[in-house]
Amino acid sequence: MLPDLSGFDLAKHGLSGLDLKPSHLWTDDEMDRFLDALRLECADPVLGMRYTKKVAQALLDLSQCRRCGRCCDADPDHPENNGVIVQEEELKTIAKHTGIGYSVLIKNTYREKKPGNRSIRYLKQPCPFLSPQGCKIYRSRPTVCCSFPITNVVDDGKTLVKISVRCDYGRDIYKTVLRMTHDSAPPI
Ligand code: SF4
Ligand code: SF4
Repeated sequence: MLPDLSGFDLAKHGLSGLDLKPSHLWTDDEMDRFLDALRLECADPVLGMRYTKKVAQALLDLSQCRRCGRCCDADPDHPENNGVIVQEEELKTIAKHTGIGYSVLIKNTYREKKPGNRSIRYLKQPCPFLSPQGCKIYRSRPTVCCSFPITNVVDDGKTLVKISVRCDYGRDIYKTVLRMTHDSAPPI
């Protein structure tokens, strides 16, 4: 597979030429350095496939969650990205299950800053529902918490799969995708 590396400065990370080599032929060292570079640049890869629950699950099945809780906590390296996408309907469900007022919950969220996506809300991180025992609202947690590190992004009207390489689980999944050859059956 040749990932879409347009716009990614490979030379800056000492990876010049990687864009000309099919990713299933990358050495383990090249693969790790490439993933480290993505992480450093906060450039989570977007796959050219439509996001559906079935596709997300098939990708999640490629590896296993380490249950480290990092996705619930603030990311000190990228404070600009701290937030858990939450729909207003999900906040209403959380309010119902926890007894916390919707207006109180809303105060723990902020709106997307980019124009065009202002309807998207985020729970501030560290997530207010994170406890030493784990998620306090596990049964009513937002959808994104159920499918992380597989998320999605809307591009040109299409909802595409995005993989967070913030954690080893996401790295494993993306490595498997990159290791597929043109002839390999896709994981879905
Ligand atoms: S999804 Fe990733 S960051 Fe979140 S608990 Fe699992 S391994 Fe950790
Ligand atoms: S709602 Fe639960 S699973 Fe989701 S980020 Fe918060 S603590 Fe983590």
